[in-house]
Amino acid sequence: MFSDASYYFRRAAQVMGIGERVQRLLEKPQRIVKVEIVVELDSGDLGTYTGYRVQHNRARGPCKGGLRYHPTLDEDHCCELASLMTWKTAVADLPFGGAKGGIDCDPTKLSLREVERITRKFVSEIHEIIGPTVDIPAPDVNTNAQIMAWIMTEYSRFHGFSPAVVTGKPIELHGALGREEATGLGVTFAIRELCARKGLDLAAQTYAIQGFGNVGSHLARHLHERGGKVIAISDVGAALHNRDGLDIPALLEHFARTRSLAGFPGAEPMSRDELIFTECDVLVPAALGEVFTKENAHLVRAKMIVEAANAPTTPEADEVFDRRGVVVVPDILANAGGVIVSYFEWTQNIQQFRWELEDTHKRLERYMGKAFRTVWDLATSRGISMRTAAYVVAIGRVGKATVLSGV
Ligand code: GLU
Repeated sequence: MFSDASYYFRRAAQVMGIGERVQRLLEKPQRIVKVEIVVELDSGDLGTYTGYRVQHNRARGPCKGGLRYHPTLDEDHCCELASLMTWKTAVADLPFGGAKGGIDCDPTKLSLREVERITRKFVSEIHEIIGPTVDIPAPDVNTNAQIMAWIMTEYSRFHGFSPAVVTGKPIELHGALGREEATGLGVTFAIRELCARKGLDLAAQTYAIQGFGNVGSHLARHLHERGGKVIAISDVGAALHNRDGLDIPALLEHFARTRSLAGFPGAEPMSRDELIFTECDVLVPAALGEVFTKENAHLVRAKMIVEAANAPTTPEADEVFDRRGVVVVPDILANAGGVIVSYFEWTQNIQQFRWELEDTHKRLERYMGKAFRTVWDLATSRGISMRTAAYVVAIGRVGKATVLSGV
């Protein structure tokens, strides 16, 4: 009956001894908006799509979270992803609540102009419920800086110049330096913290990464720059393997040229489905959710899993990992780098001031380090998993803010 995120939430709430009524209060989204989007396609036909924005919780500040464009997106999935954002912003101690949304379209089958028309129509439908102090969207799966620019300009048509209504914008249009690579870099910091706690050297580990989009590609680059050996990587079309470590700069160059991993000369092709079973030290899911299930969890051979994607592990798989002693750094901690730098972008927009890239990197490192330490210390002192510890930290912060503001 419950989503995976609800299951994890309830498990942590039980550890905390929170009563059923308060659980229900914190679990349910505060607002669900669903809109029909009708646009003229390039062919002259009408395209109809459904857009969503779910605001899960605003106890700690304006709602924050991405917009994803994906044909399988529906209301339940937005609710689950919105709740993850509430817990993520709380774990990272950002002054935000959580939201998520998007459109059930497939941008790979649409022209740029069609995506623009759909985006602008969506904003014209939801502009009254978003805003710099209300709800601030950002990129997520299949959305990017260009789409954020359209959101900003469309919103500004209704409300006046408002760069802080959305984050992840192009640098030329009030975006923050370092936002695009932020999730991948944040995951790198999480891996470094994990290695340090376990007495391991990041550079001496082997890595397998599922996904070569905005998160996976930057993560691969940052790991490679720090001496880590990325031995397997995949994207929607192909997967590659090289025991001695892939030459990531050459791979990035190949990808920029061909828009595909396939045909890269410095590696063996492998089956995309097999990637998660690669023998490696650290496995990073960096694509869509529900990767690890009860059918496949026992076949995973990595010692550590760092969740760069949102919701990649089902509760049954989580239990298998727990039992087998596989350390899992949960999504709401591991991939918080994106929303942390979104927060930096929002503050810069509000102050109409731009930070240097080094400032962003330094502060991102500090935020990730602090969040990791808090979760790790709680997990080890209470003998609970990092996921449960992260939820306990987040629920505690959201719960306190709710009580202090007077329900
Ligand atoms: N979509 C990203 C996430 O899931 C970033 C959200 C944001 O920056 O608001 O964390």
